[in-house]
Amino acid sequence: MKRIAIDMDDVLAKTTHVIIDKINQLVSKEYTYEELLTGDEAIKLEFYGHYLANNSFLWEPGFFTNIPVNEDAVEVVKKLHSQYEIFIVSAATEFPNSLKEKLDWMEMHFPFITWRHIVFCGHKHMIQADYLIDDHEKNLHTFTGTPLLFTAPHNIHIHDFKRVNNWKEIETLLLD
Ligand SMILES: [Mg+2]
Repeated sequence: MKRIAIDMDDVLAKTTHVIIDKINQLVSKEYTYEELLTGDEAIKLEFYGHYLANNSFLWEPGFFTNIPVNEDAVEVVKKLHSQYEIFIVSAATEFPNSLKEKLDWMEMHFPFITWRHIVFCGHKHMIQADYLIDDHEKNLHTFTGTPLLFTAPHNIHIHDFKRVNNWKEIETLLLD
């Protein structure tokens, strides 16, 4: 059985959407996910400037608890689960509060994936699998299987990996 490692933030979870809402509140702006995905570089640079200066909320209790699940993720992961060995791999240890919150989040949205198949780590370069679905190139560059780049505003300029834009595309790619 082939193994798929799946990232959480911005793959299973709509983390950047929540970050945008937080930044909008903190700096009184109205950035949208769509403009960060497709808009011009100046808007992105401005947004990420605000983000770097105001991202302490990532370390606050409760941040990860209420992040919405990505469209079609539950349905497609459930289908993948019947044909592949699935591991959820999240570089979460930088955010100690997130560990319990992420376990609870998985239990709430993906109860068919148990704690035996959830890996919280710092680096991902030791992860061995056939596929890694992740939004960060730093995780994909060191991966020895087939890397799949899940589209997010911060990776739209990356062209080194096969790109998947949503969970329906993953379904088409990995399921018969
Ligand atoms: Mg991620």
